Amino acid sequence: MRWSSAFIPTLRDDPADAEAVSHKLLVRAGFVRQLMAGHYSITPLGFRTMRKIEAIIRQEMEKIGAQEFRLPCMHPREIWELSGRWDSVGEEMFRLRDRKGADLALGMTHEEIFTHHAAELRSYKELPQIWYQFQSKFRDEARPKSGLLRVREFTMKDSYSFDIDEAGLDFAFDRHFEAYRRIFKRLSLDVVAVEASSGVMGGNQSIEFMMQSDAGEDWIAHCEKCGYAANVEKAQSIPSPFEDGEGLASPEKFATPRVKTIEDLARMEGGAEAARQIKTLVYRVDDRTILILLRGDHQLADQKLIDQVEAEKLGPAESTEIEAALGASAGSLGAVGSHGLYVIADESLRGRRDMVTGANENGFHLRGVDVERDIDVKAWLDLREVKEGEGCPMCQAPLSVRKTIEVGHIFKLGTKYSDPMGALVQDEKGESIPIVMGSYGIGLDRNMAAIVETNHDANGICWPVNVAPYEVVVTVLKPKDVGCHEAGERLYEKLGEAGLDVLLDDRDERPGVKFKDADLVGIPYRVTIGPKGLADGVFELARRATGEKRDLPIEHAAETIVEAVLDERS
Ligand SMILES: [Zn+2]
Repeated sequence: MRWSSAFIPTLRDDPADAEAVSHKLLVRAGFVRQLMAGHYSITPLGFRTMRKIEAIIRQEMEKIGAQEFRLPCMHPREIWELSGRWDSVGEEMFRLRDRKGADLALGMTHEEIFTHHAAELRSYKELPQIWYQFQSKFRDEARPKSGLLRVREFTMKDSYSFDIDEAGLDFAFDRHFEAYRRIFKRLSLDVVAVEASSGVMGGNQSIEFMMQSDAGEDWIAHCEKCGYAANVEKAQSIPSPFEDGEGLASPEKFATPRVKTIEDLARMEGGAEAARQIKTLVYRVDDRTILILLRGDHQLADQKLIDQVEAEKLGPAESTEIEAALGASAGSLGAVGSHGLYVIADESLRGRRDMVTGANENGFHLRGVDVERDIDVKAWLDLREVKEGEGCPMCQAPLSVRKTIEVGHIFKLGTKYSDPMGALVQDEKGESIPIVMGSYGIGLDRNMAAIVETNHDANGICWPVNVAPYEVVVTVLKPKDVGCHEAGERLYEKLGEAGLDVLLDDRDERPGVKFKDADLVGIPYRVTIGPKGLADGVFELARRATGEKRDLPIEHAAETIVEAVLDERS
């Protein structure tokens, strides 16, 4: 490609609304354009990179025997009703109605549709199968942001495994795990595999592949010592231990005027430090009101609650509901005494004495509370969010908590979809049994953004060769100089013939502009051809990532460049 005829719309300034580095750079370097919030057009440069990411994923999928499909984006309501997700998935799903009045959904994922087709499988002899596709997905994000990291329309590779039993699923899951490891290595992404909540997919085990980044929105807990890693939605920890005094024979009420928060009570004279307080949250779980108790300095991990409490709907109660249930407002709530509500407490409160909690009377608290003696706890669960420095659940070493981007997610679904949707096969004994399934996703746009998050500098993107839109740019300093022009054309042709992706910068622009653009776009190798070099018999080769430069004798230049590029491809 010649730069003079290419559409490479680079910009001088960052887009005004961009925060994430990948968002700024992908727009400025001309890889994407926003059509509307959460929807991006991929320009030719961006599409070249996306196609390379896709090719790497496709190769690794084919290696594990996966077969490629292409399924519709638009799905009939009836199929989503069979799995129950037409109702259980909320407003994240785009829904529409056609002219005949039929309800349709824009697919946010394809478990239902692949399971529908898997119903054509008849016998265990046809298993195992792995099916996959690259397809647009839609999710009605409440607040799309960060460029390609949180969008409403995106491209995913999603694959699905179909096996006769759990052992088969384990094998398919492991094969995907290994394939994903290879994919992220080839994409130059340094990821950690973490235990995760299965969320809306259901099933019983899932692993996320997370890349550390400040642009991310997921937090993971990680143990350097033993390698334990989990999303904080799921992570466990050993909280800092606490020595409690004997406490009181029974709870004692005391006045706490103007105390509204845990911090207020910690600061008040005669109050109590946060770790000695019981935090009382009031939640609506379907039609019931429940109390959730945590240590004052702990936060509720919502997803842990969702995963452990079976409910269609779940969320904090309104202040009017709280007043009606407990007779006090937030700030003075507690679970001691007769309130008739179901109480769930975090494990870290078990055995604690001499605690302080709200008295269900505005402006009053109770001290000397013995959790097990004074509160009728119906269920002890692990509900708290892990904090930096708490003990690893496996080896007790301190955990670190980091911000990450989720770049892949794999799920063991079991029979969650095949059972209700009737995807059954005959086993060896001739009995009909549901197929055991797994599902595996990678977002292409998000991976492109993740690569930029870790491969850039002050001047722009530094693409790894594997996913660079072009591997080499041949920059002709004086295109109107016949010698420069011809040398540039010859090298461009030779590199192209050797199978390299080459861009020839033949624009009639100042050298500074050309260098700036090449750095911003992030092409891994730049060869500069100018009159002075030609007179000395050399081209200059520069590496984008390191800034390192060297002169290449013209007669061997092409071979040297081809060798360097091929060396880095993997
Ligand atoms: Zn550990």
